[in-house]
Amino acid sequence: MLSRRSAFGATACACLGLLGTRPARAAGTIPRTTLTPDEAIARLLDGNRRFIADDPTPADTTAARRATLTGGQAPFATIIGCADSRTPPETLVHAGLGEVFVARVAGNTIPDTSLATIAYGIEALGTPAIMVLGHQNCGAVAAAVEVVTRGAVLPAVMQPMLGPVIFAVNAARTQPGDLLDNSVRENARIQARALIRHPDFAGKVRDGTLKVVAARYCLDDGRIEVLEV
Ligand SMILES: [Zn+2]
Repeated sequence: MLSRRSAFGATACACLGLLGTRPARAAGTIPRTTLTPDEAIARLLDGNRRFIADDPTPADTTAARRATLTGGQAPFATIIGCADSRTPPETLVHAGLGEVFVARVAGNTIPDTSLATIAYGIEALGTPAIMVLGHQNCGAVAAAVEVVTRGAVLPAVMQPMLGPVIFAVNAARTQPGDLLDNSVRENARIQARALIRHPDFAGKVRDGTLKVVAARYCLDDGRIEVLEV
């Protein structure tokens, strides 16, 4: 779960302070995206359809593209993903270099450093949309389920990572159906809700300049499903 304890206060605000007034361009020389939040989410989902269809047109990672990005970046969306090797966000949405801004942590939670990353994506780069992307059969969520249902004890080094996920598992326990998959969905929803309600982002969500969605990636068929938040 995203923490309101704000290292964000110290980290991101210091970052934003350095930025000064919001630049007309994203960091560097690339103009900010002109996509609306809804258009940005639609573009992610369209890219996912191309990924599923094995679109023969590769995402643009060419030398020419690299050259255009040397002076800056202007990604059209931010994705909060899991570190799982089966779920590279850029690949799942058929995105090339410079198109999506990504923060990945096992279990797709949002530690303070990721929160600062998200803030940078919004304020400095102009991303109008955030997708919190959980996935089928997530190992981090499965480990949290083991803790909750069987009293498994995790190594101390892993406990900070799984604490927020355990919160999601507990929230999903009363739901009918498969606990692991319900927990994956609940975990993505909880992270998305926390961003929507966070005081640094809530105003933008209210005025329609920022959209936050929760989503689940299906390992079986490759589809990204947007969840009700
Ligand atoms: Zn995972």
